[in-house]
Amino acid sequence: MRAAGGHGCDDLLAGCAEAIAEFRELLERHLRSRPDDYLTTFRDLVAVEGHYHWSAVLGDFSDDFYHVACPHCAVEVTIAIGGYGRYSAIRDWNLGDVDRRDLRPASPEVLSGIGRWMHETAVRDGEVVLADGIAHLFGQAECPRCASVFNIADDHPAVTLLPPAPAHTPR
Ligand SMILES: [Zn+2]
Repeated sequence: MRAAGGHGCDDLLAGCAEAIAEFRELLERHLRSRPDDYLTTFRDLVAVEGHYHWSAVLGDFSDDFYHVACPHCAVEVTIAIGGYGRYSAIRDWNLGDVDRRDLRPASPEVLSGIGRWMHETAVRDGEVVLADGIAHLFGQAECPRCASVFNIADDHPAVTLLPPAPAHTPR
């Protein structure tokens, strides 16, 4: 709590909450119209829901890579969800993504929290690629090194987005 807050502060906070609710409704309405900037609006709405992290890292799943540490052996695992495939792998800067394992997408009924909200919203709006990507991101991956299976999003609240692998090695 702020020590300096009088009742003026409470009024301000109440005003903010109202403004946020209005903003959320505005975004929601815009989203339902399936705009060209669907993903941008979607991410804004995720941020308004308080999930700034997912708002920041969520891609369009055309060529997305996430970078996580295996919770069991700590090896760096690259998660690909997009046109390149949907797999976990060890990234080798010369060879590319090696030792690939297929991801195990979550079935919609086991999703919860923000993952469920994002998936349901994308499905509602007919955003098939987005919905499918979210199901993979909130699903499971197998570690290429120790073969343990872990939850990508749940085990890694700080999952980070990687730039795409270089297409070739400069000579
Ligand atoms: Zn491992």
